[in-house]
Amino acid sequence: MDLELSEEQAAVRRLAKDFVDREIAPNVVAWDRAEEVDRGIVKKLGEVGFLGLTIDEEYGGSGGDHLAYCLVTEELGRGDSSVRGIVSVSLGLVSKTIQSYGTEEQKRAWLPRLTAGEALGCFGLTEPGTGSDAGNLTTRAVRDGDDYVINGSKMFITNGTWADVVLLFARSTDAPGHKGVSAFLVPTDTPGLTRRTIHGKLGLRGQATAELVLEDVRVPASALLGPEGKGFSIAMSALAKGRMSVAAGCVGIAQAALDAAVGYAGEREQFGKSIASYQLVQELISDIAVDVDAARLLTWRVADLIDRGADFATAASKAKLYASEAAVRCANNALQVFGGYGYIDEYPVGKLLRDARVMTLYEGTSQIQKLIIGRALTGVSAF
Ligand code: FAD
Repeated sequence: MDLELSEEQAAVRRLAKDFVDREIAPNVVAWDRAEEVDRGIVKKLGEVGFLGLTIDEEYGGSGGDHLAYCLVTEELGRGDSSVRGIVSVSLGLVSKTIQSYGTEEQKRAWLPRLTAGEALGCFGLTEPGTGSDAGNLTTRAVRDGDDYVINGSKMFITNGTWADVVLLFARSTDAPGHKGVSAFLVPTDTPGLTRRTIHGKLGLRGQATAELVLEDVRVPASALLGPEGKGFSIAMSALAKGRMSVAAGCVGIAQAALDAAVGYAGEREQFGKSIASYQLVQELISDIAVDVDAARLLTWRVADLIDRGADFATAASKAKLYASEAAVRCANNALQVFGGYGYIDEYPVGKLLRDARVMTLYEGTSQIQKLIIGRALTGVSAF
């Protein structure tokens, strides 16, 4: 693996850094307190090309490889995990899945708008009763002539209240377990689909996380994405790449924790000296720095494997597991460096910790990542 960035990758990283410092950083505290990022940010993300990374130019995409996608995601994660998540879901889970499995008609209908930030996508897999055990979902799609009629509900859906299209997973045949699950592209203005924003989240407060309820939602058969009965494997393949994106966002959190801790330690004096001069403070900072490097290298390796067309799913689980746990450790260590000031939201580290915590839960909890890695190593599924 070549760890040297190409000129193009370095330029994309600079662009993302400037974008975050200009468009995101000044607003982070206000968006967090308001429990909503400014929706205008979605259009800006589209204009700068970040919602089109790795998507073919003929569908409005901005191309680029997965390392470039990682670099941008990392910078967005450094700035605000709520914004990072908007991109990771709409681009990473929805647009990329449409690009891989969609018909020409579906690609033309959705990709140009999604990549431009004129429309937003959400990923509807989790249900109130099925989280880790997503293959046992109960939302039902029944064939009726040329249509499907869908009933059920979805829980914790990122971008849910804002999205224009939901990539929805529903049981459409009587095949047992996950084999009966199919994927559908459902416009969110379809009659019968209602959405409720979930308030009171510990972190990612700027993000519109929603519960979706589907009551006799009628979609044409052309809304089916990929073959009938392949929905679960489509969801798993989307999530495997999605885990790289979550991991990259976690690297951004860890880097932000490092920057904040080093900066504050250099300014703060106690006992007549800079706290940076105390060995125990240096230990906190060096622990963060090692986690940043390790998480970044694991994440870049996934990008490299994807770009080379190699198997990447287990590497993605390792990166997501390590980077999410590391982000929590790094934010917590940085908070310790800030002392009491770390505990109030005028300073950045408390939010980093709140945002980091969910990364060990979604797109497969840490326990689920360990089961995936364990299955790959032993050949035995312990699910
Ligand atoms: P459960 O599955 O009930 O797990 C509870 C605990 O049991 C966990 O510790 C888990 O690790 C453990 N556990 C479960 N099974 C096993 C096992 N076999 N072995 C060992 N331990 C086990 N979902 C979407 O579909 N789309 C989204 O956009 C989305 N965004 C989200 C945004 C936020 C802010 C949050 C909080 C969640 C989001 N989710 C989304 C849902 C998320 O993916 C689930 O919360 C996650 O998969 C865990 O499911 P659960 O919450 O039902 O927990």
